[in-house]
Amino acid sequence: MRGWQVRAPDPDVVRSLHRTSMAVPRPGPGELLLAVDACGVCRTDLHIASGELPVHRRAVVPGHEIVGHVVELGEGATGFRAGDRAGVAWLRETCGECRFCRRGAENLCPRSRYTGWDADGGYADFATVRADFAYPLPDGYSDAELAPLLCAGIIGYRALRRAELPPGGRLGIYGFGASAHLTAQVAVAEGARVHVLTRSPRAQKLALDLGAASAGGAADGPPEPLDAAVLFAPVGDLVPVALRALDRGGTLSVAGIYLSDIPSLNYERELFQERTVRSVTANTRADGRELLAFAAVHRLTVAVVPYPMARAGEALADLAADRVDGAAVLLP
Ligand SMILES: [Zn+2]
Ligand SMILES: [Zn+2]
Repeated sequence: MRGWQVRAPDPDVVRSLHRTSMAVPRPGPGELLLAVDACGVCRTDLHIASGELPVHRRAVVPGHEIVGHVVELGEGATGFRAGDRAGVAWLRETCGECRFCRRGAENLCPRSRYTGWDADGGYADFATVRADFAYPLPDGYSDAELAPLLCAGIIGYRALRRAELPPGGRLGIYGFGASAHLTAQVAVAEGARVHVLTRSPRAQKLALDLGAASAGGAADGPPEPLDAAVLFAPVGDLVPVALRALDRGGTLSVAGIYLSDIPSLNYERELFQERTVRSVTANTRADGRELLAFAAVHRLTVAVVPYPMARAGEALADLAADRVDGAAVLLP
């Protein structure tokens, strides 16, 4: 099969990616072998290709928003049959027995492994996944539309839950890419008033089209105090900006796996009155199932920017340069 590998991480991501011939992986016990029908391009892939995240597996195949169909079941794999559509997400496996796994916080498992970082992902013709970490997918969406739900959608969903937005509350969203445009729709569908803060005029227009109450630049601030905010842009300088926009008791949740340094905070202006800032670390399978169940009931609009699989490097470069409005998806 053909697949892309990160040979030597490089800030110039196009140079770090190589397309090559490789053996089709074999499904181990409990695993599925999928033929890849679509694979989303996530900002985390960029951090892996650029070296902002350390190398976990040499020459890894990136990609952790995989939609495929089952072509083979490993010994003892259950829950899927040949031909079924299945999704693969970032969280590849957890130990199942540590204190975090046992208390329903498997996203914090110290022995967790990740698709497209610790193990080969979906920038290839085939990929494997543990059957108990694969997701059945809702009807009514194309493969390309489903792919971004598997990381952008799930992580955004967890970030929204971590922001503890009260019913009918006022939500700020900082940055408006693949994850934010899905999260905004979940919040709007749940009755929130959503204010989007982003530089790009095209992203501002998309936000308004998807039901945001307002869209403007982060420096201008939202038109009203916020009960909660989610920071999607990987920009630590926005943390104090977003905290100052919160009303008393508000929560800022930081969605990314990578964030540039946060400047020093002023306690009175940015934290006092019980404002809270919290991180989001991966997701649990329960988060994934909840988001996909939500998407089955509320038809989300997924702004897909398709690229042929053979042009994965270009897709990553476009994402790095903020030239993608919505979610880039690789198609075979
Ligand atoms: Zn564990
Ligand atoms: Zn991702």
